[in-house]
Amino acid sequence: MAYQHRYLEGDPLDLPVGKVVCIGRNYLDHIRELNNAVPETPILFMKPATALLGLDEPIRLPVGQGECHHEVELAVLVGRALRDADAATAQNAVVGYGIALDLTLRDLQNELKKKGHPWETAKAFDGSCPLSPFVKPGALADPQATDLTLRINGEPRQQGNTRLMMIGIFELVAYISTHFTLQPGDVVLTGTPAGVGPLQSGDQLVLGLADREFVARVA
Ligand code: ZN
Repeated sequence: MAYQHRYLEGDPLDLPVGKVVCIGRNYLDHIRELNNAVPETPILFMKPATALLGLDEPIRLPVGQGECHHEVELAVLVGRALRDADAATAQNAVVGYGIALDLTLRDLQNELKKKGHPWETAKAFDGSCPLSPFVKPGALADPQATDLTLRINGEPRQQGNTRLMMIGIFELVAYISTHFTLQPGDVVLTGTPAGVGPLQSGDQLVLGLADREFVARVA
């Protein structure tokens, strides 16, 4: 079934499905686990609308391309156009929060990085952004102090809190809008905490956003 944005609460959400803008390194613990340098300016990349997949659809791992890593991330749904916005304007334009996986073909990404090439084929493939339904802004106590968790087959794999971001949610959305106009229906992924690792066929995933849990599975 084609992906559509929707609210967890069931209310209609009439927004087109747009692009996904992501930040490469926004949690210190994750930067350290991959032996990356702390960036001086945010590393941005995009996934097209074809990357989006509801969490109720099976996750399909690309075949023959090495390890496909999970990166659990807070997702932000943009409801109004933003260009050169400040953080307060960015905050007002957010109409929902969700939890997403920034699926990454890590072996391929490492090869591309070594060659100094762009990462798109490792990050922006079809279905590379499984995404939960959104909770309304008022329904999340404090988006900037929210637990993010990922359990796989019952084992805790990623555990973080959005207060550990180096660039806060709304500063990040504002910064993105100085490079790319954000349109209603676009999604921003805010970076992953430590604990990334490869997914396997048949894995059962539970993604936690504060006290809400979302189930997914790998085909
Ligand atoms: Zn990521």
